[in-house]
Amino acid sequence: MTPDAATVDLVCAACDRPLEIGRVVASYMGQTFPVDLPRCPVCGFVYVSEELASGKMLKVEQALEDK
Ligand SMILES: [Zn+2]
Repeated sequence: MTPDAATVDLVCAACDRPLEIGRVVASYMGQTFPVDLPRCPVCGFVYVSEELASGKMLKVEQALEDK
């Protein structure tokens, strides 16, 4: 197999298939926005990291607005 830039070092626990980066729609605080997250091409499972789930994304946006 050749390395694929669109794959990440994560495997779907259910399908045992490598996850691929894909555009998904996330929701936070009542708003939705597109994000690129690792997702399973077989079952559609989207991997949400603890950092993202704990609101790190929101902190990043706030940091950008401060500048
Ligand atoms: Zn899967």
